[in-house]
Amino acid sequence: MTQLTRRTFRACCLAATAAVAATAVFHSDAPAQAGSRFAFEPVMPELKRAVQYAGTSTELCFEELRDRGVPFEVAEAKRTVETPIRLTGPVRGVAFKATYRDDPRPPGPWTIMDCRLALAIDDLAQLLSAHGVVEAEYLSLYRPSPGKPGVRHGAGRAIDLATVKLADGTLYSVQHDFHGRVGAQSCGEGADPARKDTPGARFWRDVVCGLDDRGSFNLVLSPNHDFGHRDHLHLEVRSGIRWFLVQ
Ligand SMILES: [Zn+2]
Repeated sequence: MTQLTRRTFRACCLAATAAVAATAVFHSDAPAQAGSRFAFEPVMPELKRAVQYAGTSTELCFEELRDRGVPFEVAEAKRTVETPIRLTGPVRGVAFKATYRDDPRPPGPWTIMDCRLALAIDDLAQLLSAHGVVEAEYLSLYRPSPGKPGVRHGAGRAIDLATVKLADGTLYSVQHDFHGRVGAQSCGEGADPARKDTPGARFWRDVVCGLDDRGSFNLVLSPNHDFGHRDHLHLEVRSGIRWFLVQ
């Protein structure tokens, strides 16, 4: 896509939200490469946030993070990560931390992400913050793996979100509170209800479907997608695709 200029970035993304909302029901056929009946290509994918983020230059990405007040530092180079960074503090009042790794010093490679993912994580943090979340634990961001540039965890383009803590101490984990069913539809008209109607299940539906509305990630995969996602949400900003998959 054409590189965005600094002046047009916000106007572009705001326009994207309105345009996508207006055209959300008119999807073209699900792209075959996604391998899911829930995948769809919007009428104007270039207006969706995830597609905008994936096409952002390093310079503009840094500027945007600073403008948004996202605390970050440039991280050590990883061959497969285009612009490696680390968060250095809470985002919108939400502290992101790696599960099972309480000691952040020295910071491990698992806390590295590509700058473009951080833009989407800022959107995620706004959504979580509105629900009273103060801490979000993830299983991984970057992890060493072969693969295409701009794709999945090897490129630092995905976060596996596992558990959140609210300001009152309430914990909601995907594993214990999502109450999903493999094959179920998560959002939109005809969505399947959770197996149990609990505050935690409602919270996770709100997160998944709130992200669907925002279009910040190309892929939002929950326990409804497959057994591999029984304990986390896979949230990814992927380069080179125009389709979305939220399940
Ligand atoms: Zn993942």
